Amino acid sequence: MQGIRLLARGKINLALDVLGRRPDGYHDVAMVMQSISLGDELILEEAEEGIVVTSSDPLLPTGPANLAHRAAEAVRSLAGLARGIRIHIQKKLPVAAGLGGGSADAAGVLFGLNRMWNLNISHETLAELAVKLGADVPFCLTGGTALAEGIGERLTPLPSLGRRWLVLVKLPLSVSTPRVYQAWDRMGFATHPDVPRVVQLIREGKVAELPKAWGNALEAVVFPLYPEVEDLFQQLQNRGLPVRMSGSGPTLFVWGFREDAQARAFAQQLRKDGLWAEPVTTEDRGIELIEICN
Ligand code: ATP
Repeated sequence: MQGIRLLARGKINLALDVLGRRPDGYHDVAMVMQSISLGDELILEEAEEGIVVTSSDPLLPTGPANLAHRAAEAVRSLAGLARGIRIHIQKKLPVAAGLGGGSADAAGVLFGLNRMWNLNISHETLAELAVKLGADVPFCLTGGTALAEGIGERLTPLPSLGRRWLVLVKLPLSVSTPRVYQAWDRMGFATHPDVPRVVQLIREGKVAELPKAWGNALEAVVFPLYPEVEDLFQQLQNRGLPVRMSGSGPTLFVWGFREDAQARAFAQQLRKDGLWAEPVTTEDRGIELIEICN
């Protein structure tokens, strides 16, 4: 087998709580994660030697600073292989946006190389590699709906929400996740969303009630740092729309459209205001194999 093409889906956080900073600098979190239809397309191909990463986004690093590169290195060293690999990333997920783009790419490479090279690495072992690459990588590998605890690696699968339509909306700015967590450390106080309640609602299938319970502890950090994100959040909320920030932002998501056409029309309206807006659905899988090329 010489190549593989796959979709590495992003995520939103239906709930995100930060419980504290650990001595190793990581943060303990409790997050309800949800895969979304928007993802990066990855093409993995056999190459003569080395790891070569290219991307549709010229600003992304292509060397070991790219998580996809590091994921390939991790698989090669676990399998004791020196085979060459070329990875092309067709970026669809905005970078540093709270949608887990880099994590999705890393998960896609772990999954893809395991398939392409017939390595038969177990899901558990891939998940161990995943957490070393980033806190959101284990979830991106598994996908669907899940509670993520610890630093994000302890996953409890939750029942599917079924297909839901939502709209992602983002101002033209990037947010550095480490900077947000450093600010969270400095704040010395925290709001704590009721994550167990969100989990309970999902378990009981009461999806329509989610916006009453959900929350993101990082909004209290990001909004003062980026008041324009809070303004946008308020504008959407004032229109009576269920809205939340994903991850460390700045992407917001608006929830509760009845159908595809309604979500598309709303995204179109937001784009006219110069915003990046994308209608998406919830998905039950993080990684989708598109094609195996021989
Ligand atoms: P999360 O929600 O998991 O915190 P994010 O969506 O906020 O992630 P990413 O898009 O993953 O953020 O990007 C964060 C940083 O990671 C960027 O500074 C970027 O340069 C770096 N990075 C490394 N590899 C990638 C990749 N394959 N795609 C996107 N960013 C990457």
